[in-house]
Amino acid sequence: MAVIIDGKAVSKKLLEQIKNEAELYEKKPCLAVIIVGNDAASKIYVNNKRKTALELGFKSIVTELPEDVTETALIKEIEKLNNDTTVNAILVQLPLPKHINSAKILETIKPEKDADCFHPSNVGKIAVNGKVFVYPCTPKGILSLLDEYKISVAGKNVVVVGRSNIVGRPLAMMLLNKDATVTICHSKTKNLSEITKQADILISAAGNPKFIKKDMVKDRAIIIDVGITRDSNGKLSGDIDFENVKENSSYITPVPGGVGPMTICSLMQNTLDLFKLQNK
Ligand code: NAD
Repeated sequence: MAVIIDGKAVSKKLLEQIKNEAELYEKKPCLAVIIVGNDAASKIYVNNKRKTALELGFKSIVTELPEDVTETALIKEIEKLNNDTTVNAILVQLPLPKHINSAKILETIKPEKDADCFHPSNVGKIAVNGKVFVYPCTPKGILSLLDEYKISVAGKNVVVVGRSNIVGRPLAMMLLNKDATVTICHSKTKNLSEITKQADILISAAGNPKFIKKDMVKDRAIIIDVGITRDSNGKLSGDIDFENVKENSSYITPVPGGVGPMTICSLMQNTLDLFKLQNK
């Protein structure tokens, strides 16, 4: 039976450390979030970010823009925050409405204030194993969780399911930078289970509820579930068939309470780190 990795407890501990460190500074770190439109899930995420930032004693700015905001107006808002010396970290909540070019928006955020590490120049630094300002929140949260449980990735076969710019792709590069042997799978991968069965560490970020079954996983593997899908009754599921897979694995993250709480924790750490870099 697997050890259930407790993301909630780890996040609580790390947030406490961030709060204590932030208290040492006279000025307060400031996180600015821009949200466009009325997407219910995005509103919940943004509220949680604001609430957590305030709990840590950070300053929080939330800019709400209407669904039909023009790309030009959105860019102007970002530029305002770029030029505001009291703002340390900027995040544009995704997804954006279809009429807006998300890539162009993410490129507008000043790399030094890029709280999510989505700017191509920051992503490029990860790709060449260079010095980054901060790492993307969800991949960073996953690595922090592994660190907390003293799980090293060096030399391990790590299979990442999913190749999005938010999770799979940067995570794979970060694992490679930590000497893992990395395989990336995606929706066009053939014989997925043949590959997942090779994994010492299997990390799934597909958003496909419970599709990783017991027979797709090696005995005693470490299982990290990034997926979050809400069913028609509002119940959350991960990508992993948790109840069955946990029987044979060595460590496993639950959904909720695994990777989810770590993402917000990374965002707060990134805000503090960017603040420190700007106030050296
Ligand atoms: P996405 O839709 O952008 O990407 C999903 C990826 O999974 C794609 O690369 C796709 O090719 C791959 N994929 C989908 N179905 C697959 C299948 N059957 N087999 C193999 N590969 C498959 O999504 P995303 O933004 O990367 O998010 C992925 C999941 O992680 C979602 O459920 C999302 O809600 C969740 N998520 C959680 C957190 C967190 O904090 N826990 C953060 C970000 C995303």
